[in-house]
Amino acid sequence: MLSLRGVCKSYGEAEALRPVDADLPAGELAVLTGPSGSGKSTLLMIAGGWETPDGGEVVPSPPLPDLPMDRMSWSDVGFVPQSISLFEELTLADNLALALGRPGGGDLLEALDLTRLAARRPGEVSRGEQQRAAVARALVAAPALVIADEPTSHQDHRRALLVLDALRAAADRGAAVLIASHDPVAVRYADREIRLGAGSVLRG
Ligand code: ADP
Ligand code: ADP
Repeated sequence: MLSLRGVCKSYGEAEALRPVDADLPAGELAVLTGPSGSGKSTLLMIAGGWETPDGGEVVPSPPLPDLPMDRMSWSDVGFVPQSISLFEELTLADNLALALGRPGGGDLLEALDLTRLAARRPGEVSRGEQQRAAVARALVAAPALVIADEPTSHQDHRRALLVLDALRAAADRGAAVLIASHDPVAVRYADREIRLGAGSVLRG
């Protein structure tokens, strides 16, 4: 689905990622682990096309279109950034509708315990609810690739399981799903762990 080949990135003097190789197969839920500052967010931003690597390449394969990652749409790649980044002027339901291209996603809102909040704007719900809405938005257009940065960081245990179940469902229907997480529950849920240390893949 997606291959990273020799991908590297520095911010000034700081080497955030040394040349990294990684493959994300369809149908798998992979979890990226590693200490804070090890390059997880940088890797996710590059994998999703929100950041350009200094070197190496990110190679999509079908069913992703043969496009640079930064040209992909919500129906190609669903992204949950650490910053969550919902559209503040839109209700939660309309955030999903925008990604889907039409109204919909009621069953995802239900699965993520958001139905009663669908008509509120992000500023009118909690951080955890915003985060679940961002997960719903990332999944609603059934993208082939899903990338989520710490998607359970603002959830209690019960809601973390709802988030992980939804991500698992996306993998089960054939998506490649890559999440960064410190959450041991997420690591247990994953098919594969990719461990980063100081910008390099240690295991995975
Ligand atoms: P993680 O997600 O594992 O905590 P990051 O990818 O956020 O790691 O960061 C890896 C390294 O790159 C860290 O040393 C961090 O300080 C640095 N870094 C990340 N983003 C930036 C940025 N925008 N500007 C400068 N340094 C950055
Ligand atoms: P609509 O409401 O317009 O019929 P759906 O919400 O049924 O749209 O579906 C939109 C997409 O969201 C589906 O293709 C599916 O991939 C995804 N989806 C729906 N429910 C879940 C769920 N519980 N977990 C993960 N993905 C889901």
